[in-house]
Amino acid sequence: MLLEKILTQRIKKNGPLSMAEFMEEVLGHPEHGYYMTRDPLGRGGDFTTAPEVSQLFGEMIGVWVADTWRKLGEPGQFVLLECGPGRGTLMADILRATQKVSGFHKAADVVLMEMSPVLRQKQEECLADYDVRWVGRLSDLKTDVPMIVVGNEFLDALPICQLVRCDGGWSERDVNVDDNGLFYIIQNPLKADFFELGQEWLTQVQEDEIAEVSPARDGFMRELSVLIKTRGGAALFIDYGHEKSAPGDTLQAVYKHDYCDVLEHIGHADLTAHVDFEALGRAAADLYCQGIVTQGRFLKNLGIGIRAQVLKQKADEKQGAEIDVALRRLCGDDEMGVLFKVIGFSHDKSIKLAGF
Ligand code: SAH
Repeated sequence: MLLEKILTQRIKKNGPLSMAEFMEEVLGHPEHGYYMTRDPLGRGGDFTTAPEVSQLFGEMIGVWVADTWRKLGEPGQFVLLECGPGRGTLMADILRATQKVSGFHKAADVVLMEMSPVLRQKQEECLADYDVRWVGRLSDLKTDVPMIVVGNEFLDALPICQLVRCDGGWSERDVNVDDNGLFYIIQNPLKADFFELGQEWLTQVQEDEIAEVSPARDGFMRELSVLIKTRGGAALFIDYGHEKSAPGDTLQAVYKHDYCDVLEHIGHADLTAHVDFEALGRAAADLYCQGIVTQGRFLKNLGIGIRAQVLKQKADEKQGAEIDVALRRLCGDDEMGVLFKVIGFSHDKSIKLAGF
């Protein structure tokens, strides 16, 4: 309720919020933001992510990280950065899976980029056996060594703007509030010149269609690409979304594992938008994009099937069945296997990253 009051006052004072401003406040308001006040993951929360489905996921990412480190020439010091680490499960699985890679742990400066104090606490507990450090944002990361960066379901949480093609021009979807305190969406003139972002695909958008752009994601990818280009390294992002920029309203709210209206349960429902992977490639123009593959293909390319077989040999019947279910959930065409995509970047074209 409190967040709704704060947003109402802000709108009354300064006018409607852009969708990006609304998302930023709902998710990241320092006191009342969705991520700042809770652990949203798992059965008792609002949604379940791939690392929480099975250790198989993090182990495969661990294989990818170790392989990438080798391909970078096994630097004696490097930053292993995870963006938006949730409960810390993915990093814990990566570190466990790489335990036997000679020299890897000694070389790794493990950094977690996290804005939520609640989740940071969870990460501290989950990674208590390891030497790790935290940053709140990319610019806090002071480093001059190569970097290997991973992020699962991080980019979908970064704010988007929704543009609408109308009368041959453009308007923007904003959030307004009426005298009864009810929030509603209105279309207003654009507040920023999005066309300067070089997104020519916007000219193909038809009348009344919605086009989503994310200056926050673009800015993050640009900043990261400068870091990786100058220090050397690679990045891997996994998320739901589309390979090609295309119109559509993908903003969604999820509350206790069910979709709800974006303006419902404000600050208590997760707000995300599908990731436009083509836009990520454009923003990280300094880096070499290794390609975009589906999560199912990526995990199979890394050998998840073989790893599952090995685990099953040590498992009883019930555990074996659970491994099969997890494998299907992660890789199945009608589950996470196709909707989720993986994009990889390296500073240099000569490096061929695994999985693509
Ligand atoms: N990667 C985890 C969690 C995904 S939820 C998993 O797969 O389970 C999104 C995560 O990103 C949370 O940890 C959230 O607190 C974090 N996050 C969202 N926006 C952020 C931002 N702007 N800066 C840093 N962390 C952010």
